[in-house]
Amino acid sequence: MMTISYEYEGSLYVNLTNKCDCACVFCLRHNGHNGSIYADDLWLEHEPTRQEALEDLLSRDMSQYRELVFCGFGEPMFRWDDDAWLIDELKARGVKLPPVRINTNGHANRILGRDVTPELKGRVDVISVSLNGADEAEYTAVTQPSTGAQGWTDMLEFTRLASQYVPTVMMTIVNKDKTPEDIEACRALAEGLGAKLRVREYIPD
Ligand code: SF4
Repeated sequence: MMTISYEYEGSLYVNLTNKCDCACVFCLRHNGHNGSIYADDLWLEHEPTRQEALEDLLSRDMSQYRELVFCGFGEPMFRWDDDAWLIDELKARGVKLPPVRINTNGHANRILGRDVTPELKGRVDVISVSLNGADEAEYTAVTQPSTGAQGWTDMLEFTRLASQYVPTVMMTIVNKDKTPEDIEACRALAEGLGAKLRVREYIPD
């Protein structure tokens, strides 16, 4: 069975891709593929077409949800063109969307080869960027981007640009092996880019 969207804590999550340019040490993608705190099996056998995703979303009652979240088992911005199309199509059909959020690693501009942040305007209400480390060394050790240290710079730059177009930009960090000083350094970094820091508690596998 293919899970395109699923409910979690009052929000609707959309999963269109398994692809990612990172290999985070904690990622569920390589921790046995199908275990997830969110849904039973998020590994897509094939990526749904935008039409399949639209049909899935049209079958949902959007008024029930707190947020519509593009996250995916992989990095959702690989499919940003389709995400944007879906948002536009739903609105064009008169569907009143709850706030739209994207959970991302912040590498979209590198992945898609252009600055996509202006396209977020009016479509995305909340962006949550995974910070994953207080500095470049920690970040690259934890997330193992395919571009190495460039991934850190790209993520910071994406956050800075996105905060010009998206009302709420957050950077998230998991509170594991972090001192209060690390957390404060992360907070200063996020705020310097126009984002708010959100500290998530660590959930062991
Ligand atoms: S960025 Fe997300 S999807 Fe990609 S490897 Fe890290 S946790 Fe997994």
